[in-house]
Amino acid sequence: MCADKTILVTGGAGFLGSFLCERLLEAGNDVLCLDNFHTGSRSNILHLLDNYRFELIRHDVTVPICAEIDEIYNLACPASPVHYQIDPVQTVRTNVHGAINMLDLAMRANAKIFQASTSEVYGDPAVHPQVEGYFGNVNPIGPRACYDEGKRCAETLFFDYHRQYGVDIRMARIFNTYGPRMRPDDGRVVSNFIMQALRGEPITLYGDGMQTRSFCYVDDLIRGIMALMDAPDTAPMPCNLGNPVEFTMRQLAETILELTGSRSILTTRPLPQDDPTQRKPDISRAREHLGWAPAVELREGLMRTIAYFEAELSAPARAQQRKTPLVRRTRPVQPHSEALARGMMSNGAHL
Ligand code: NAD
Ligand code: UDP
Repeated sequence: MCADKTILVTGGAGFLGSFLCERLLEAGNDVLCLDNFHTGSRSNILHLLDNYRFELIRHDVTVPICAEIDEIYNLACPASPVHYQIDPVQTVRTNVHGAINMLDLAMRANAKIFQASTSEVYGDPAVHPQVEGYFGNVNPIGPRACYDEGKRCAETLFFDYHRQYGVDIRMARIFNTYGPRMRPDDGRVVSNFIMQALRGEPITLYGDGMQTRSFCYVDDLIRGIMALMDAPDTAPMPCNLGNPVEFTMRQLAETILELTGSRSILTTRPLPQDDPTQRKPDISRAREHLGWAPAVELREGLMRTIAYFEAELSAPARAQQRKTPLVRRTRPVQPHSEALARGMMSNGAHL
């Protein structure tokens, strides 16, 4: 890949974003990591702060920003259902206003821009495995819609900016990805099951546990994202990135119990509303156009992830004890309700 670029990574202090920042630095680029620390963590990027090519910007993507950059990777958005449903309006705003702000910036800076879209644009899919040509089955008024429809609207914006203004876009529809640096309280299934197994707590299976997901290890995913960004700019297309090996949640729980040697019992909880019953990517497009395929099998990836959570559990105060890094603050981040109370339009505040 070409090095020596200045690259903005929004959501760079999150799970995926922090690995992406790391790989982009390793490849010889300057990296601007933008994050409002909603779900991200300073500890994820602490090891990068000594690198003179890395800069941290505390900022909310819903507020416009100016920067001289060559590329943008737009990852800012909580990804766990638990987190994106806490403040659904902010989730929509992050997806929609965030996309507009980053696309405007790409247009001004003549920068190439990548969008982290999601398998959730397929909703509860009636087509299996999911191909990029499938338009999806999303409940537009359900509790997941803030994320699903927010991401779908962001996709629309990316393609409209491309058609209308010629912005050079790349778009991955990312399927369930896991690995070290997920938050212990992330709420997604892999971190939940591992933490419960390590603590000897009951494993919380939602529904009958027969719903399926296909899990991609973080290293594979980041390799795919970077390959997509560097692919030739022929007609842009959304591209599924994920591991096509499908598991039921019951199988996942049993594998984690085996790998951790835990004696936790399985317990059932109600299935959340609109929880997709099946999910598995068709990755023909990524194989053909990027020469990409995942390499890390679930058991191997889980062992690495379990080792990470074991280390976190043995030093629980580690993250908090780390020194707070220097942060360039572009503007204090206003909680939505506070901003409304003060009569501010969240997208009207310019720097
Ligand atoms: P994450 O929650 O760990 O990271 C998201 C990051 O975005 C966090 O650092 C958070 O603080 C930041 N953020 C959220 N709202 C922001 C805002 N308004 N302004 C600035 N920063 C903001 O999640 P992740 O798993 O790393 O996901 C990263 C991206 O990839 C997300 O866009 C997500 O939708 C997408 N994605 C992830 C997965 C997955 O399985 N991990 C699957 C599909 C799509
Ligand atoms: N799930 C579960 N127990 C948990 C957390 C999640 O059984 O403690 C299930 C959830 O109902 C879903 C699957 O695991 O069917 C994946 O959930 P996750 O939140 O990780 O991701 P998403 O639903 O967005 O794919």
